[in-house]
Amino acid sequence: MAGVLGFALASCVQNTAVNPELVAASDVTTAPSRVAITIDDLPYVMPSRTSPEDGLRYTNQITAALRKHGIVATGFAVGQQINARSLHALQAFADAGHTIGNHSWSHPDYGTLTRDAFFEETRRTDEVLQQWIDEQRFYRFPFLREGETEATKVAATEILSELGYQNVPVTIDNDEWQFNADYVAALEDGNGEAAAIIAQNYLAHMKERTAFFQNLAIEELGSDVDHILLIHLNRINADHFGTLLDWYDEQGWSFIPVEEAMMHPLFSRLDNYAGPQGLSQIERVLGGKRE
Ligand SMILES: [Zn+2]
Repeated sequence: MAGVLGFALASCVQNTAVNPELVAASDVTTAPSRVAITIDDLPYVMPSRTSPEDGLRYTNQITAALRKHGIVATGFAVGQQINARSLHALQAFADAGHTIGNHSWSHPDYGTLTRDAFFEETRRTDEVLQQWIDEQRFYRFPFLREGETEATKVAATEILSELGYQNVPVTIDNDEWQFNADYVAALEDGNGEAAAIIAQNYLAHMKERTAFFQNLAIEELGSDVDHILLIHLNRINADHFGTLLDWYDEQGWSFIPVEEAMMHPLFSRLDNYAGPQGLSQIERVLGGKRE
């Protein structure tokens, strides 16, 4: 499931011991593919608990990791989180050559919104993002929740189209935001040892999710797809996303911009899922959640 703007939800992942299942699963190898990097909740998660200096530092650490691999990423900003304090981080992300998209005004669950409210959530952020958005106009649903019925899915599609936006789904969905919550808590407790173990488990989780969705595509769709990875602009990625990118590189993956990934036929296939969950686009095409 996709992230929650860094709200400190109770974690159900046992992050403070190395999880052998995750490590074993991440050894699964498949042929390398191509992946686009997308980063949600810009300027940065937990803005109420993060100083502007830290937010800028996390942004710079992540853009440095992207630069090392020549990656142009797409970040999705939450309108109401953009203010005088956080602006520098968003500007640094744009200045590093990355694309900025719209991730709603207040990060609501689309399932709770009226048609008018969804329009307004999207339009307000569009207004705030004017200076950063050019010809590429990308939208990412909060929690990846795109509508609980066919009618609400269609309504969202119509509104995004009216505002000139293209929805950007995810293929490699994951729970990295949850590892971040535990990681930040461990560091705030001064427990570097626990934080290091959580970071190790985060890496294993991300490798496992990558292999899982790659195998799902191969087994259920007949071949691999161009992937879109979701992460958040948070501290665990600031500190460890570079290591994950090194791993993708070592495995032979190549990095592509999101507009190139979106040209894969997966993204023009019928979305067979309507419901409350945020899912990988592979699962949507297959009609529901896969474990
Ligand atoms: Zn989000």
